[in-house]
Amino acid sequence: MTISCQSSFQNNNNTHKQESTGSLFLVATPIGNLEDMTYRAVRTLQECDIIAAEDTRQTRKLLSHFEITPSMLFSYHEHNKAASGPELIRYIIEGKNLALVSDAGLPAISDPGADLVALAIGHGIPVIPIPGANAALSALIASGLPTTTFTFIGFLPRERKDIRAVLSPLRSAQGTILFYESPHRVVKTLAHLHEAFGNRRIVLARELTKRYEEFLRGTIEECTDWLAEHPPLGEYVIVVEGESKEDAEMAESAWWRQLSIEEHVAHYEAADMPRKEAMKKAASDRGVSKRDIYNTLLDKAEQ
Ligand code: SAM
Repeated sequence: MTISCQSSFQNNNNTHKQESTGSLFLVATPIGNLEDMTYRAVRTLQECDIIAAEDTRQTRKLLSHFEITPSMLFSYHEHNKAASGPELIRYIIEGKNLALVSDAGLPAISDPGADLVALAIGHGIPVIPIPGANAALSALIASGLPTTTFTFIGFLPRERKDIRAVLSPLRSAQGTILFYESPHRVVKTLAHLHEAFGNRRIVLARELTKRYEEFLRGTIEECTDWLAEHPPLGEYVIVVEGESKEDAEMAESAWWRQLSIEEHVAHYEAADMPRKEAMKKAASDRGVSKRDIYNTLLDKAEQ
């Protein structure tokens, strides 16, 4: 294992150059409400030599609102990241400070920013987060669902089998689960969540920080019915409650369901339980009489 330690000397001028190499600044931008732009984000964008943006048209609007004139505005998105990433890294190595922004919120969350960060770290470039708005965490904190442990998934894949592969291991996750979704797919996604998790409690957080911000709290079925009456509009975060203690206990106590009666009894015998005791325990797990267990084992032995 190679250990690396990056310590950034942070003073009032956060884009202050100490070395000949520049730094990569990950600058959060608002997810709707422009007042969520931080002072530090504005200053960083003003001071950086280059701004790399997912959608340069969108970013120009933001920059013009805050009267920021970028020296260089580069496009960096999913479809050009293979070529654009190394080029941006070359600029940083030459000594330029680069600010990466996404269309909204934190860069590197559900966008290709994480690839640029990995590339920068691979070249020993300091990576400096400039925190701010984020849709998933804003939805989570206002959801009313537990916030102690949570899993962020972002967008689900498109193919049914890939969706299942993501969702099935989450069935027994006890923390809250967070998804991103567009208005066009939200109803379909609720159907996938229902199939995977059953009728759990969810919160649909829509248009966060914007004029028509809305939190819809209910079960998956209730929210689906609501969307049938009120067609989805705007961007969504879907917040799903984790597996309840009761469901977890039920799943735990039903571990034997996949076993035959023979296997069930053998399981206890393998744990050094006398046969009579093992039969009694299997009968009690299954809610049947000891005689039923005995008769089944007898039938099997006679076959
Ligand atoms: N980087 C962003 C962040 O930090 O939250 C997320 C970008 S991701 C490409 C876009 C998705 O985030 C949207 O499809 C939606 O699910 C969610 N999102 C963004 N803005 C939102 C808002 N104002 N309200 C609800 N969800 C939002």
